[in-house]
Amino acid sequence: MGYHCFSEKLTTAKAQHRCIWCCHQILTGSKYVREHSVYDGHHQNFAWHEACRAHAVAGWKDGADEEFISGNEMPFFALYQLECAAPTPSDRREGL
Ligand SMILES: [Zn+2]
Repeated sequence: MGYHCFSEKLTTAKAQHRCIWCCHQILTGSKYVREHSVYDGHHQNFAWHEACRAHAVAGWKDGADEEFISGNEMPFFALYQLECAAPTPSDRREGL
């Protein structure tokens, strides 16, 4: 079993993505982590919420298996709900 991460960078979402960890949407305009890696010879190109990535990486450092199934609980989920409820910049423009 081998996992190797080629790149992991914080970027701004230009379109909506789905977080590989919690399956919730990554909102357009919010920061997310783009991961390019190989797991058991398979190329992976994943989008992560910043908090989900940090949570997962912390678990791996504690010895958790690097293999996981999507649909995990999102850390700071209440904050995410607030962010979803807040108007996006484009909504605000339409309101003018
Ligand atoms: Zn997530």
